[in-house]
Amino acid sequence: MAKHQNVQKYKYYKIEDGKVIRLKKTCPRCGPGVFMAEHLNRYSCGRCGYTEWKKPEKKK
Ligand SMILES: [Zn+2]
Repeated sequence: MAKHQNVQKYKYYKIEDGKVIRLKKTCPRCGPGVFMAEHLNRYSCGRCGYTEWKKPEKKK
């Protein structure tokens, strides 16, 4: 029996005060809709292989 294969994209977003907030980082190469996987110190796109390093946070 085939099950529904709905990709719940909306789970990557949340609505707060009427604004859409992205919970995941999207790939600048593939465009919005392609989300990047988060690693400890970088993000990587599973589609094109783009890697973006996290910037060290400045603490005040
Ligand atoms: Zn990509």
